[in-house]
Amino acid sequence: MVEILWFRQDLRLADQPAVRAAAEAGAVLPVYVWDEQSEGVRPPGGASRWWLTRSLAALDADLRARGGRLLVAEGRAAEVLAGLARETGARAIHATRQTEPWWPPVEARLAGLLRLHGWPTLHPAGAVATRTGGPFRVFTPYWRAHVAAGAPAPPSPAPAAIRFAEVPDGLAGRGVPRFAPRWAAGFAGVPGEAGAGAALAAFLPKLAAYGARRDFPAEEATSRLSAHLHFGEISAAACWHAAEGREGAEAWQRQLVWRDFAHEMIRQHPDSHERPHREAFAAMEWTDAEAEPGRGWLAAWQQGRTGYPLVDAGMRQLWRTGWMHNRVRMVAGSFLVKHLGIDWRHGERWFWDTLVDADLPNNAMGWQWVTGSGVDAQPFYRIFAPVMQAERFDALAYVARWAPEYRSVEPVNPIVEHRAAREAALARFAAIREGG
Ligand SMILES: Cc1cc2nc3c(=O)[nH]c(=O)nc-3n(C[C@H](O)[C@H](O)[C@H](O)COP(=O)(O)OP(=O)(O)OC[C@H]3O[C@@H](n4cnc5c(N)ncnc54)[C@H](O)[C@@H]3O)c2cc1C
Repeated sequence: MVEILWFRQDLRLADQPAVRAAAEAGAVLPVYVWDEQSEGVRPPGGASRWWLTRSLAALDADLRARGGRLLVAEGRAAEVLAGLARETGARAIHATRQTEPWWPPVEARLAGLLRLHGWPTLHPAGAVATRTGGPFRVFTPYWRAHVAAGAPAPPSPAPAAIRFAEVPDGLAGRGVPRFAPRWAAGFAGVPGEAGAGAALAAFLPKLAAYGARRDFPAEEATSRLSAHLHFGEISAAACWHAAEGREGAEAWQRQLVWRDFAHEMIRQHPDSHERPHREAFAAMEWTDAEAEPGRGWLAAWQQGRTGYPLVDAGMRQLWRTGWMHNRVRMVAGSFLVKHLGIDWRHGERWFWDTLVDADLPNNAMGWQWVTGSGVDAQPFYRIFAPVMQAERFDALAYVARWAPEYRSVEPVNPIVEHRAAREAALARFAAIREGG
Protein backbone atom coordinates (compact mmCIF):
# COMPACT_ATOMS: atom_id res chain seq x y z
CA MET A 1 0.00 0.00 0.00
CA VAL A 2 1.08 3.57 -0.69
CA GLU A 3 1.96 5.69 2.34
CA ILE A 4 2.18 9.42 1.61
CA LEU A 5 5.01 11.13 3.47
CA TRP A 6 4.17 14.81 3.75
CA PHE A 7 7.23 16.95 4.47
CA ARG A 8 6.79 20.38 6.05
CA GLN A 9 9.42 21.98 8.32
CA ASP A 10 11.03 18.61 8.92
CA LEU A 11 13.21 18.28 5.85
CA ARG A 12 15.42 15.40 6.96
CA LEU A 13 15.53 11.61 7.06
CA ALA A 14 17.25 11.00 10.44
CA ASP A 15 15.26 11.25 13.67
CA GLN A 16 12.18 12.05 11.60
CA PRO A 17 9.24 10.13 13.06
CA ALA A 18 7.00 10.50 9.99
CA VAL A 19 9.73 9.08 7.74
CA ARG A 20 10.14 6.14 10.09
CA ALA A 21 6.41 5.49 10.38
CA ALA A 22 5.80 5.69 6.63
CA ALA A 23 8.79 3.44 5.85
CA GLU A 24 7.57 0.84 8.33
CA ALA A 25 4.02 0.95 6.99
CA GLY A 26 4.52 0.42 3.25
CA ALA A 27 5.64 1.98 -0.03
CA VAL A 28 6.54 5.61 0.58
CA LEU A 29 5.51 8.56 -1.61
CA PRO A 30 7.40 11.67 -0.38
CA VAL A 31 5.67 14.98 -1.09
CA TYR A 32 6.22 18.63 -0.35
CA VAL A 33 3.29 20.97 -0.93
CA TRP A 34 4.16 24.57 -1.69
CA ASP A 35 1.11 26.10 -0.06
CA GLU A 36 0.61 29.85 0.06
CA GLN A 37 -3.14 29.66 -0.31
CA SER A 38 -4.56 27.88 2.69
CA GLU A 39 -6.37 30.13 5.12
CA GLY A 40 -3.98 32.04 7.38
CA VAL A 41 -0.73 30.74 5.86
CA ARG A 42 2.08 33.24 6.18
CA PRO A 43 4.21 32.72 3.05
CA PRO A 44 7.95 32.55 3.60
CA GLY A 45 9.93 35.75 3.04
CA GLY A 46 12.54 36.20 0.31
CA ALA A 47 15.54 34.92 2.25
CA SER A 48 13.63 31.89 3.60
CA ARG A 49 12.58 30.96 0.08
CA TRP A 50 16.21 30.94 -0.94
CA TRP A 51 16.97 28.52 1.88
CA LEU A 52 13.82 26.43 1.46
CA THR A 53 14.24 25.73 -2.26
CA ARG A 54 17.83 24.63 -1.68
CA SER A 55 16.80 22.51 1.26
CA LEU A 56 14.14 20.80 -0.86
CA ALA A 57 16.74 20.16 -3.58
CA ALA A 58 19.04 18.60 -0.96
CA LEU A 59 16.21 16.40 0.34
CA ASP A 60 15.34 15.36 -3.20
CA ALA A 61 18.99 14.39 -3.80
CA ASP A 62 19.06 12.38 -0.54
CA LEU A 63 15.87 10.56 -1.57
CA ARG A 64 17.21 9.89 -5.06
CA ALA A 65 20.37 8.40 -3.57
CA ARG A 66 18.03 5.89 -1.90
CA GLY A 67 16.02 5.20 -5.04
CA GLY A 68 13.15 7.65 -4.50
CA ARG A 69 12.46 11.31 -5.20
CA LEU A 70 10.57 14.26 -3.79
CA LEU A 71 7.30 15.18 -5.44
CA VAL A 72 6.78 18.94 -5.22
CA ALA A 73 3.19 20.05 -5.65
CA GLU A 74 1.64 23.48 -5.37
CA GLY A 75 -1.72 24.56 -3.97
CA ARG A 76 -3.87 24.19 -0.89
CA ALA A 77 -2.26 21.36 1.05
CA ALA A 78 -5.50 19.68 2.13
CA GLU A 79 -6.83 19.56 -1.44
CA VAL A 80 -3.53 18.53 -3.00
CA LEU A 81 -2.94 15.73 -0.50
CA ALA A 82 -6.51 14.44 -0.56
CA GLY A 83 -6.32 14.35 -4.37
CA LEU A 84 -3.01 12.55 -4.29
CA ALA A 85 -4.35 10.01 -1.81
CA ARG A 86 -7.35 9.33 -4.09
CA GLU A 87 -5.21 8.92 -7.18
CA THR A 88 -2.69 6.61 -5.56
CA GLY A 89 -5.11 4.76 -3.29
CA ALA A 90 -2.86 5.72 -0.39
CA ARG A 91 -3.67 4.23 2.98
CA ALA A 92 -2.39 7.15 5.03
CA ILE A 93 -0.61 10.48 5.03
CA HIS A 94 2.26 10.68 7.51
CA ALA A 95 3.57 13.99 8.83
CA THR A 96 5.29 15.38 11.89
CA ARG A 97 3.43 17.89 14.03
CA GLN A 98 4.09 21.58 13.44
CA THR A 99 3.47 24.62 15.62
CA GLU A 100 2.47 27.29 13.11
CA PRO A 101 -1.16 28.28 13.73
CA TRP A 102 -2.32 27.78 10.14
CA TRP A 103 -1.87 24.00 10.20
CA PRO A 104 -4.72 22.74 12.44
CA PRO A 105 -7.53 23.60 9.96
CA VAL A 106 -5.56 21.97 7.12
CA GLU A 107 -4.98 18.89 9.25
CA ALA A 108 -8.64 18.74 10.27
CA ARG A 109 -9.62 18.47 6.62
CA LEU A 110 -7.35 15.43 6.25
CA ALA A 111 -8.46 13.88 9.51
CA GLY A 112 -9.38 10.41 8.30
CA LEU A 113 -6.09 9.91 6.48
CA LEU A 114 -3.58 11.91 8.46
CA ARG A 115 -1.22 10.28 10.97
CA LEU A 116 0.74 12.85 12.98
CA HIS A 117 4.02 11.80 14.57
CA GLY A 118 6.57 13.52 16.83
CA TRP A 119 7.15 17.19 17.61
CA PRO A 120 9.35 19.98 16.30
CA THR A 121 10.54 20.70 19.84
CA LEU A 122 12.60 18.87 22.46
CA HIS A 123 9.51 17.79 24.38
CA PRO A 124 5.90 17.39 23.21
CA ALA A 125 3.61 20.42 23.46
CA GLY A 126 2.36 20.95 26.99
CA ALA A 127 4.67 18.28 28.46
CA VAL A 128 6.59 20.91 30.42
CA ALA A 129 3.86 22.54 32.46
CA THR A 130 3.39 24.26 35.82
CA ARG A 131 2.31 22.25 38.87
CA THR A 132 -1.28 23.05 38.06
CA GLY A 133 -0.79 21.88 34.48
CA GLY A 134 -0.81 25.35 32.93
CA PRO A 135 1.72 26.97 30.62
CA PHE A 136 4.73 28.88 31.94
CA ARG A 137 4.88 32.62 31.35
CA VAL A 138 8.44 33.16 32.55
CA PHE A 139 11.47 31.46 31.07
CA THR A 140 13.57 30.60 34.13
CA PRO A 141 10.98 28.38 35.84
CA TYR A 142 10.20 26.90 32.40
CA TRP A 143 13.88 26.03 31.99
CA ARG A 144 13.99 24.43 35.47
CA ALA A 145 10.91 22.34 34.73
CA HIS A 146 12.42 21.39 31.39
CA VAL A 147 15.57 20.14 33.11
CA ALA A 148 13.47 18.28 35.67
CA ALA A 149 11.50 16.61 32.86
CA GLY A 150 14.74 14.98 31.71
CA ALA A 151 16.54 14.78 28.39
CA PRO A 152 14.47 14.45 25.21
CA ALA A 153 14.27 11.00 23.64
CA PRO A 154 17.57 10.14 21.97
CA PRO A 155 17.61 10.68 18.20
CA SER A 156 17.04 7.72 15.91
CA PRO A 157 18.98 7.17 12.66
CA ALA A 158 17.37 7.36 9.22
CA PRO A 159 15.71 4.07 8.23
CA ALA A 160 18.28 1.65 6.79
CA ALA A 161 16.13 1.22 3.69
CA ILE A 162 13.00 2.90 2.37
CA ARG A 163 10.75 1.20 -0.18
CA PHE A 164 9.37 3.90 -2.46
CA ALA A 165 6.02 3.90 -4.24
CA GLU A 166 5.92 4.34 -7.99
CA VAL A 167 5.12 7.93 -8.87
CA PRO A 168 2.01 7.56 -11.05
CA ASP A 169 2.16 8.95 -14.60
CA GLY A 170 0.92 12.50 -14.79
CA LEU A 171 1.80 13.07 -11.16
CA ALA A 172 5.46 13.67 -11.71
CA GLY A 173 4.90 17.17 -10.34
CA ARG A 174 7.20 19.95 -11.14
CA GLY A 175 10.82 19.88 -10.12
CA VAL A 176 12.04 21.57 -7.00
CA PRO A 177 11.73 25.31 -7.66
CA ARG A 178 14.82 27.47 -7.41
CA PHE A 179 14.38 30.88 -5.92
CA ALA A 180 16.86 33.66 -5.24
CA PRO A 181 15.93 37.16 -4.16
CA ARG A 182 18.03 39.76 -5.93
CA TRP A 183 20.12 40.36 -2.81
CA ALA A 184 21.07 36.70 -2.15
CA ALA A 185 24.61 36.59 -3.57
CA GLY A 186 26.30 36.62 -0.16
CA PHE A 187 23.92 34.34 1.76
CA ALA A 188 25.71 31.99 4.10
CA GLY A 189 25.08 28.38 5.06
CA VAL A 190 24.56 25.10 3.27
CA PRO A 191 20.86 24.20 3.30
CA GLY A 192 19.93 20.56 3.81
CA GLU A 193 20.47 17.72 6.24
CA ALA A 194 24.15 17.24 5.37
CA GLY A 195 24.76 20.98 5.79
CA ALA A 196 23.05 20.85 9.20
CA GLY A 197 25.22 17.93 10.31
CA ALA A 198 28.34 19.75 9.13
CA ALA A 199 27.32 22.94 10.99
CA LEU A 200 26.77 20.96 14.19
CA ALA A 201 30.11 19.15 13.82
CA ALA A 202 31.91 22.46 13.23
CA PHE A 203 30.28 23.97 16.32
CA LEU A 204 30.88 21.22 18.89
CA PRO A 205 34.57 22.07 19.47
CA LYS A 206 33.42 25.65 20.31
CA LEU A 207 30.86 24.51 22.85
CA ALA A 208 33.11 24.93 25.89
CA ALA A 209 33.55 28.65 25.12
CA TYR A 210 29.92 29.24 24.04
CA GLY A 211 28.60 30.56 27.37
CA ALA A 212 31.41 33.12 27.70
CA ARG A 213 31.67 34.18 24.03
CA ARG A 214 28.18 33.92 22.55
CA ASP A 215 27.46 37.62 23.01
CA PHE A 216 30.53 38.84 21.12
CA PRO A 217 29.43 39.45 17.54
CA ALA A 218 32.95 39.56 16.07
CA GLU A 219 33.51 35.97 17.15
CA GLU A 220 32.01 32.96 15.41
CA ALA A 221 31.04 31.54 18.77
CA THR A 222 27.49 30.38 18.05
CA SER A 223 26.29 27.36 16.09
CA ARG A 224 24.64 29.02 13.07
CA LEU A 225 22.09 26.21 13.23
CA SER A 226 18.99 28.42 13.32
CA ALA A 227 17.87 28.01 9.70
CA HIS A 228 18.64 24.28 9.83
CA LEU A 229 16.50 24.00 12.96
CA HIS A 230 13.74 26.15 11.50
CA PHE A 231 13.41 23.92 8.45
CA GLY A 232 13.84 20.77 10.51
CA GLU A 233 16.98 19.65 8.68
CA ILE A 234 18.20 18.48 12.06
CA SER A 235 16.10 17.68 15.09
CA ALA A 236 16.42 19.71 18.27
CA ALA A 237 16.89 16.40 20.12
CA ALA A 238 19.86 15.50 17.91
CA CYS A 239 21.43 18.87 18.80
CA TRP A 240 20.71 18.37 22.49
CA HIS A 241 22.26 14.90 22.60
CA ALA A 242 25.31 15.89 20.54
CA ALA A 243 26.08 18.49 23.23
CA GLU A 244 25.13 16.38 26.26
CA GLY A 245 28.03 15.54 28.55
CA ARG A 246 30.42 18.03 26.89
CA GLU A 247 31.87 21.01 28.68
CA GLY A 248 29.64 24.04 28.17
CA ALA A 249 26.60 22.03 27.04
CA GLU A 250 24.13 23.63 29.42
CA ALA A 251 24.50 27.20 28.15
CA TRP A 252 23.70 26.07 24.62
CA GLN A 253 20.95 23.65 25.60
CA ARG A 254 19.33 26.58 27.36
CA GLN A 255 19.02 28.33 23.98
CA LEU A 256 17.39 25.24 22.51
CA VAL A 257 14.92 25.45 25.39
CA TRP A 258 14.24 29.12 24.53
CA ARG A 259 13.19 27.76 21.16
CA ASP A 260 10.75 25.34 22.87
CA PHE A 261 9.49 28.27 24.97
CA ALA A 262 8.80 30.27 21.81
CA HIS A 263 6.77 27.38 20.38
CA GLU A 264 4.74 27.23 23.62
CA MET A 265 4.14 30.96 23.33
CA ILE A 266 2.78 30.62 19.79
CA ARG A 267 0.44 27.85 20.93
CA GLN A 268 -0.93 30.16 23.62
CA HIS A 269 -0.89 33.30 21.46
CA PRO A 270 -1.10 32.32 17.79
CA ASP A 271 -1.13 35.98 16.74
CA SER A 272 2.10 36.84 18.55
CA HIS A 273 3.69 38.33 15.46
CA GLU A 274 0.89 40.92 15.24
CA ARG A 275 -0.42 41.47 18.71
CA PRO A 276 1.44 42.55 21.83
CA HIS A 277 1.03 40.14 24.72
CA ARG A 278 0.77 43.08 27.12
CA GLU A 279 -2.45 44.79 26.25
CA ALA A 280 -1.19 48.25 27.27
CA PHE A 281 1.17 48.24 24.27
CA ALA A 282 -1.77 48.32 21.89
CA ALA A 283 -2.19 51.97 22.91
CA MET A 284 1.43 52.95 22.21
CA GLU A 285 1.76 56.03 19.97
CA TRP A 286 4.40 54.89 17.51
CA THR A 287 6.36 57.24 15.26
CA ASP A 288 4.53 58.02 12.05
CA ALA A 289 6.89 56.64 9.39
CA GLU A 290 5.20 58.76 6.69
CA ALA A 291 5.54 62.17 8.36
CA GLU A 292 8.38 64.29 9.76
CA PRO A 293 10.46 63.68 11.74
CA GLY A 294 10.09 59.91 11.18
CA ARG A 295 9.94 59.94 7.40
CA GLY A 296 12.85 57.87 6.08
CA TRP A 297 13.81 56.41 9.47
CA LEU A 298 12.53 52.92 8.72
CA ALA A 299 14.44 52.80 5.42
CA ALA A 300 17.58 54.14 7.14
CA TRP A 301 17.31 51.34 9.70
CA GLN A 302 16.64 48.69 7.07
CA GLN A 303 19.59 49.83 4.98
CA GLY A 304 22.02 50.28 7.87
CA ARG A 305 22.25 54.09 7.63
CA THR A 306 21.29 55.18 11.13
CA GLY A 307 24.70 56.58 12.00
CA TYR A 308 25.14 54.08 14.85
CA PRO A 309 27.98 51.74 13.84
CA LEU A 310 26.78 48.59 15.66
CA VAL A 311 23.19 48.96 14.45
CA ASP A 312 24.29 49.62 10.87
CA ALA A 313 26.80 46.75 10.87
CA GLY A 314 24.06 44.38 12.06
CA MET A 315 21.51 45.52 9.48
CA ARG A 316 24.05 45.11 6.71
CA GLN A 317 25.15 41.68 7.93
CA LEU A 318 21.47 40.74 7.78
CA TRP A 319 21.01 42.06 4.25
CA ARG A 320 24.21 40.56 2.92
CA THR A 321 24.16 37.12 4.59
CA GLY A 322 20.53 36.50 5.64
CA TRP A 323 21.63 36.13 9.27
CA MET A 324 22.46 38.46 12.14
CA HIS A 325 24.19 37.78 15.43
CA ASN A 326 21.76 37.47 18.36
CA ARG A 327 23.26 40.30 20.44
CA VAL A 328 23.02 42.63 17.45
CA ARG A 329 19.43 41.51 16.73
CA MET A 330 18.65 42.70 20.24
CA VAL A 331 20.48 46.02 19.87
CA ALA A 332 19.19 46.79 16.35
CA GLY A 333 15.64 45.71 17.26
CA SER A 334 15.66 47.81 20.39
CA PHE A 335 16.99 50.79 18.40
CA LEU A 336 14.08 50.59 15.97
CA VAL A 337 11.45 50.34 18.67
CA LYS A 338 12.89 52.59 21.37
CA HIS A 339 15.25 55.10 19.73
CA LEU A 340 13.14 55.54 16.61
CA GLY A 341 9.80 54.76 18.25
CA ILE A 342 8.78 52.69 15.23
CA ASP A 343 6.17 49.97 15.72
CA TRP A 344 7.96 46.63 16.33
CA ARG A 345 5.78 44.95 13.69
CA HIS A 346 7.71 46.80 10.97
CA GLY A 347 10.88 45.22 12.31
CA GLU A 348 9.27 41.81 12.62
CA ARG A 349 8.20 41.94 8.98
CA TRP A 350 11.60 43.11 7.79
CA PHE A 351 13.30 40.24 9.61
CA TRP A 352 10.66 37.86 8.22
CA ASP A 353 11.66 38.85 4.71
CA THR A 354 15.43 39.04 5.15
CA LEU A 355 16.41 36.30 7.63
CA VAL A 356 17.16 32.85 6.25
CA ASP A 357 16.12 31.56 9.70
CA ALA A 358 12.87 33.61 9.79
CA ASP A 359 10.72 31.65 12.19
CA LEU A 360 7.27 32.58 13.43
CA PRO A 361 7.80 31.58 17.10
CA ASN A 362 11.39 32.84 17.50
CA ASN A 363 10.94 36.05 15.54
CA ALA A 364 7.70 37.02 17.26
CA MET A 365 9.21 36.26 20.66
CA GLY A 366 12.40 38.16 19.80
CA TRP A 367 10.48 41.25 18.76
CA GLN A 368 8.11 41.15 21.72
CA TRP A 369 11.18 40.75 23.92
CA VAL A 370 13.02 43.79 22.58
CA THR A 371 9.80 45.82 22.71
CA GLY A 372 8.98 44.81 26.25
CA SER A 373 5.48 43.73 25.26
CA GLY A 374 6.12 39.99 25.58
CA VAL A 375 5.19 37.56 28.32
CA ASP A 376 8.80 37.37 29.56
CA ALA A 377 10.56 40.35 28.04
CA GLN A 378 13.14 43.06 28.55
CA PRO A 379 11.22 45.87 30.30
CA PHE A 380 10.49 48.78 27.96
CA TYR A 381 12.31 51.25 30.21
CA ARG A 382 15.58 49.31 29.86
CA ILE A 383 17.02 50.84 26.72
CA PHE A 384 20.13 49.43 25.08
CA ALA A 385 22.73 52.12 24.39
CA PRO A 386 24.29 51.04 21.07
CA VAL A 387 27.70 52.51 21.91
CA MET A 388 27.91 50.87 25.31
CA GLN A 389 26.76 47.56 23.86
CA ALA A 390 29.45 47.78 21.18
CA GLU A 391 32.12 48.52 23.79
CA ARG A 392 30.97 45.87 26.21
CA PHE A 393 30.97 43.17 23.53
CA ASP A 394 34.14 44.25 21.67
CA ALA A 395 32.25 44.92 18.46
CA LEU A 396 34.86 47.05 16.70
CA ALA A 397 36.09 44.21 14.46
CA TYR A 398 32.46 43.36 13.66
CA VAL A 399 31.77 46.99 12.73
CA ALA A 400 34.95 47.07 10.61
CA ARG A 401 33.73 44.03 8.72
CA TRP A 402 30.15 45.07 7.98
CA ALA A 403 30.23 48.86 8.10
CA PRO A 404 33.88 49.68 7.35
CA GLU A 405 33.38 53.41 6.87
CA TYR A 406 33.14 53.77 10.65
CA ARG A 407 36.46 54.09 12.42
CA SER A 408 35.06 53.51 15.92
CA VAL A 409 31.84 52.46 17.59
CA GLU A 410 30.86 56.11 18.20
CA PRO A 411 27.95 57.48 16.15
CA VAL A 412 28.58 59.59 13.07
CA ASN A 413 25.75 61.91 11.90
CA PRO A 414 23.15 59.85 13.81
CA ILE A 415 19.53 60.15 12.68
CA VAL A 416 18.52 60.57 16.33
CA GLU A 417 20.56 61.58 19.33
CA HIS A 418 20.79 58.84 21.99
CA ARG A 419 19.88 60.87 25.05
CA ALA A 420 16.93 62.66 23.48
CA ALA A 421 15.67 59.44 21.89
CA ARG A 422 15.86 57.71 25.24
CA GLU A 423 13.84 60.47 26.93
CA ALA A 424 11.22 60.34 24.19
CA ALA A 425 10.94 56.56 24.51
CA LEU A 426 10.48 56.77 28.27
CA ALA A 427 7.80 59.42 27.83
CA ARG A 428 5.99 57.25 25.30
CA PHE A 429 6.13 54.35 27.72
CA ALA A 430 4.93 56.48 30.66
CA ALA A 431 1.89 57.48 28.58
CA ILE A 432 0.77 53.87 28.04
CA ARG A 433 1.42 53.01 31.66
CA GLU A 434 -0.78 55.87 32.79
CA GLY A 435 -3.36 54.96 30.19
CA GLY A 436 -3.34 51.25 31.08
C1 LIG B 1 14.49 40.60 17.38
C2 LIG B 1 14.89 39.14 17.29
C3 LIG B 1 14.40 38.36 16.24
C4 LIG B 1 14.77 37.01 16.14
N1 LIG B 1 14.27 36.26 15.09
C5 LIG B 1 14.59 34.95 15.00
C6 LIG B 1 14.09 34.16 13.94
O1 LIG B 1 13.32 34.61 13.08
N2 LIG B 1 14.49 32.85 13.86
C7 LIG B 1 15.32 32.29 14.80
O2 LIG B 1 15.62 31.10 14.71
N3 LIG B 1 15.77 33.01 15.85
C8 LIG B 1 15.46 34.32 15.96
N4 LIG B 1 15.97 35.06 17.02
C9 LIG B 1 16.73 34.36 18.08
C10 LIG B 1 18.25 34.29 17.89
O3 LIG B 1 18.76 35.55 17.56
C11 LIG B 1 18.69 33.28 16.83
O4 LIG B 1 18.05 32.03 17.04
C12 LIG B 1 20.19 33.04 16.88
O5 LIG B 1 20.89 34.25 16.69
C13 LIG B 1 20.57 32.05 15.79
O6 LIG B 1 21.95 31.87 15.73
P1 LIG B 1 22.61 30.47 16.10
O7 LIG B 1 21.92 29.37 15.38
O8 LIG B 1 24.08 30.60 15.91
O9 LIG B 1 22.24 30.35 17.65
P2 LIG B 1 22.88 29.57 18.87
O10 LIG B 1 23.30 30.58 19.88
O11 LIG B 1 23.88 28.57 18.46
O12 LIG B 1 21.61 28.82 19.49
C14 LIG B 1 21.19 27.51 19.09
C15 LIG B 1 19.75 27.52 18.67
O13 LIG B 1 18.92 27.86 19.77
C16 LIG B 1 17.81 28.62 19.30
N5 LIG B 1 17.87 29.96 19.89
C17 LIG B 1 18.96 30.69 20.18
N6 LIG B 1 18.62 31.88 20.73
C18 LIG B 1 17.27 31.89 20.76
C19 LIG B 1 16.31 32.84 21.21
N7 LIG B 1 16.67 34.02 21.74
N8 LIG B 1 15.00 32.54 21.07
C20 LIG B 1 14.61 31.35 20.57
N9 LIG B 1 15.47 30.41 20.12
C21 LIG B 1 16.78 30.68 20.23
C22 LIG B 1 17.93 28.73 17.79
O14 LIG B 1 17.17 27.71 17.19
C23 LIG B 1 19.43 28.53 17.59
O15 LIG B 1 19.76 28.04 16.31
C24 LIG B 1 15.62 36.42 17.12
C25 LIG B 1 16.10 37.22 18.17
C26 LIG B 1 15.74 38.57 18.25
C27 LIG B 1 16.29 39.39 19.38
